[in-house]
Amino acid sequence: MITNYDLKPLYEFGWSIYWDTVRSQENEWTQKLSPARVIAQFSHSYKIMTPVGEHSAGVSGKFEFNAVNRSDYPAVGDWVMVEIVPNEARSVIHAVLPRKTYMVRKAAGNTMDDQIIGSNMDYLFIVNALNQDFNLRKIERYLIAAWESGAQPVVLLTKTDLCEDPPKFAAAVENAAPGVPVHLISALLDQGKNELTPYLHAGKTIAITGSSGVGKSTLLNWLAESEKQRIQEIREDDARGRHTTTHRELFLLEGGALIMDTPGMRELQLWDSHEGWEQAFSDIEALAGQCRYRDCIHESNQGCAIIQALDDGTLDPKRYANYKKTAKELAHLARKEESSSQKKSKKTTSSQQKKKRSRSNMIDILEELD
Ligand code: GDP
Ligand code: ZN
Repeated sequence: MITNYDLKPLYEFGWSIYWDTVRSQENEWTQKLSPARVIAQFSHSYKIMTPVGEHSAGVSGKFEFNAVNRSDYPAVGDWVMVEIVPNEARSVIHAVLPRKTYMVRKAAGNTMDDQIIGSNMDYLFIVNALNQDFNLRKIERYLIAAWESGAQPVVLLTKTDLCEDPPKFAAAVENAAPGVPVHLISALLDQGKNELTPYLHAGKTIAITGSSGVGKSTLLNWLAESEKQRIQEIREDDARGRHTTTHRELFLLEGGALIMDTPGMRELQLWDSHEGWEQAFSDIEALAGQCRYRDCIHESNQGCAIIQALDDGTLDPKRYANYKKTAKELAHLARKEESSSQKKSKKTTSSQQKKKRSRSNMIDILEELD
């Protein structure tokens, strides 16, 4: 086995001192393997970027044996430790380095199992269109997922060319998304690209999310404009993968940022998102902290800061309704997950269970959207 690869080529794909440190926590044997980044996922294989170029890869038998949940398997954006098979452009994945950030969804079917749909992203672009599809409540839900992922959310309002007063909508989003930058763009008119340059630094990873039809693919192509050629080249290698549904890719933009598409909410379900929820509604949480009574249920006027804010118009009643609704859904899911993990408990060890439980209480929000 070849060891001591020159990792320089991986910096272009987001490797950094941070990851050197993460790698150094792995066992000695694993440390000797080479790091690589997962850039595409097919049904039974991966495309990875190794220090010696693009390889196809699969997980080792031992990896497969030890995997408990779908989320234990590699996902697009992951840094993995691989054994490189020289001359074959093939690698064997032995470990996934702990994810810095990630988005997860409930796996297909009726299980409570979860699947990683993108990892190690720095920014999460939440895309919504300024036509009849515009929906603040949807943006609030995406924000719960975004905050929970650990990545910095950024809201992009697309198709400004179809809207009479885009700044009015931007202001409404800013109100519903405390601490989140909001940008107005039109791919059609080629407007707003400059506003996005602060996110497009070399080595940064961006995931794009939003319901179908809001303009995600158009945005991706627009950002990659001068890079179209390259994307096509990458795609051509993968004629096989293009036909599979799990296919997802991480693209390198000319400026050096990496960008990935993720499925829209139609597929995406939220999970154990209490922290994300608190952050998405931090303004309301702060108000609740100002109520006179600590256990205020915000139903009577008696010193209730929330009722006060609803009365004087500083808190949008629809936003407040969404705050309560999503809280209820989270509680419901926590119960559902609790009973499903009790059923499963014979099969998994307690530490595996704990790991699973901490991440997979999911909200079923599908009927809501689209
Ligand atoms: P996706 O499903 O989110 O990937 O959405 P697409 O990128 O496929 O776009 C859906 C539709 O919106 C397509 O017909 C695009 O041409 C259109 N579209 C995308 N961006 C813009 C825009 O900035 N302005 C207008 N008017 N249409 C757009
Ligand atoms: Zn109150």
